[in-house]
Amino acid sequence: MRKKNVVLTDVPVTGYAAEGKALAKIDGKVIFIEGGVMPGDVVDVRLSKNKKDWAEGKATTIHTYSPDRVEPFCEHFGLCGGCKWQMMPYSLQLQYKQQQVQDHLSRIGRMPLPEMNPILGSELTEKYRNKLEFTFSNKAYLTTEEIAAAGDGEIMQRSALGFHVPRLFDKVLDINTCYLQDEPTNLIRNTIKEYALANNLPFYDIRNHEGWLRNLVIRVLRTGEVMVNLVLHHESKEERIALLDHLLAKVPSITTLLYTFNPKKNDSIFDLEPKVYFGKGYAEERLEDFTFKIGPKSFFQTNTHQGERLYQVTRDFAGLTGNEVVYDLYCGTGSIGIFVSRMAKKVIGIELIKEAIDDAIENADRNDVKNAQFYAGDVIDICDDAFFAAHGAPDVIITDPPRAGMHEKLVQKLLEIAAPKIVYVSCNPATQARDLALLHEKYTVEKIQPVDMFPHTHHIENVVLLKRRDTDLTS
Ligand code: SAH
Repeated sequence: MRKKNVVLTDVPVTGYAAEGKALAKIDGKVIFIEGGVMPGDVVDVRLSKNKKDWAEGKATTIHTYSPDRVEPFCEHFGLCGGCKWQMMPYSLQLQYKQQQVQDHLSRIGRMPLPEMNPILGSELTEKYRNKLEFTFSNKAYLTTEEIAAAGDGEIMQRSALGFHVPRLFDKVLDINTCYLQDEPTNLIRNTIKEYALANNLPFYDIRNHEGWLRNLVIRVLRTGEVMVNLVLHHESKEERIALLDHLLAKVPSITTLLYTFNPKKNDSIFDLEPKVYFGKGYAEERLEDFTFKIGPKSFFQTNTHQGERLYQVTRDFAGLTGNEVVYDLYCGTGSIGIFVSRMAKKVIGIELIKEAIDDAIENADRNDVKNAQFYAGDVIDICDDAFFAAHGAPDVIITDPPRAGMHEKLVQKLLEIAAPKIVYVSCNPATQARDLALLHEKYTVEKIQPVDMFPHTHHIENVVLLKRRDTDLTS
């Protein structure tokens, strides 16, 4: 059974592993399965990797459907990479996420863990994202049915505005209705697409790097603001003005409309200069009674409601009384630091991206926060002894690293500095577990709270409170 291209038949799926892969066990060997299957299904699997203790592959046929399955609500389910868990009831999704965190943390071994708090599910399981990015492509993904239905010699519609198809970098799935974001998101996307098709505006060709329409970023915020940024390959003034005016006329609820020229080969707008066509050029979002400025390039938690709960958990775990020096590592636009600032003596935020720090300073100002300072640079370079000496010994360190987790050098520094408490916010419980194992040298895990920010996906956010072992913080 070590050969590749083996097809395993009638495999009962029993669970989920990391990264949303379904799991089965055959004669003690673990099989990771991709392709829209869930526990309770019985499937055939074509293996792409086959090692001694484990194998992985794609489900080719589902023989028996799990009795837990529900009907996916989206017409694009199965092809779109967006909401792969729609066939599972939300309560079951939460159960698997809770289990994931438990599995990762308990695998650390040696380290005693408190009982985990039950995961905080999202009240909104549809239309929960405040930001969506769509891609224009002249290479629509077509199913074999669509190709067959078109018949010989027929010219097929190959322009698409939607999402990249997983693993096919140049193929985009055309989207009619997306349930990830509240209206007017579908109206905006479909208005632009219909206008572009009617006027023969060229959709981008990602292989040959030609075409005009590239990306569409839509933010719909709970302040009622709607911000749109249309990314074009180059200027074509008359066409641009006609298109943007058409959009504003059809969607009067747009509060800010921007456009950006991107002549580069990659899609990132980080190094580009968005230009304001209509409105103030940015939007605002509210968390409790704080407001945050969101520019076209700013990072902001994409699920506002759950983002607010995540920060509430973080603030609660920090257990602030007003006298603490709090460090907010990987602070982005400063939102966590600002959110906890009223309960702290002072907040020091650190973040790699200079523009995010500019936003953080502006956000602090906008919320009348006077006890927060923000510094741009790599946490590993900034967090040295001189920095901590200059800004004060930390009482609480909040850390919210990207998926890769913390750099080992930073973990070593945190062990040296030995703040009484660390609140570790993570979007990847696997790397979080790895870092906790290192921090165990001086810390114990006191509390664990998973938060679901992304219903119908396998992504998990998890907050952990660590207490330095020689301190008694209950007093
Ligand atoms: N705490 C913020 C953002 C968390 S996302 C919030 O809740 O909104 C992680 C952030 O870490 C990103 O903004 C990223 O730019 C930043 N980052 C990544 N590597 C870094 C490093 N080595 N040093 C400092 N910041 C880093």
